Amino acid sequence: MIESSQATTVLLVEDNELNRDMLSRRLTRRGFRVVTALDGETAVKLSRELEPDLILMDMGLPGMNGWEATRVIKQNLETQAIPIIALTAHALNADRERALSAGCDAFETKPVDLEHLLRAIGSLLNGRSQAT
Ligand code: MN
Repeated sequence: MIESSQATTVLLVEDNELNRDMLSRRLTRRGFRVVTALDGETAVKLSRELEPDLILMDMGLPGMNGWEATRVIKQNLETQAIPIIALTAHALNADRERALSAGCDAFETKPVDLEHLLRAIGSLLNGRSQAT
């Protein structure tokens, strides 16, 4: 397998500044290139412009929320292959179902367990490169 020398680009969509800064810093330290968005509209726009390798999507966002933004991204042919991991404060089954039915590929509860998240990212990116 040939590994790309370019850093994996993660689009982190999170309106809470503290959560955003902390997760962004931790992912950057692990070698990811992190681009942030604070709302769903920007997430949709950046998913097209940047073609990130993966999106981390907070569900509770001002304006267009994470479920809506996920639906738009997954309905667009240019962006539908980008894996999306939902980030939500609730561990309820209903939230998980709601995120997955919006098109999210995986689901992480907040506060984020970094090692758990990194495993989820790794398995989604592996699946994709094998399919290419
Ligand atoms: Mn939020």
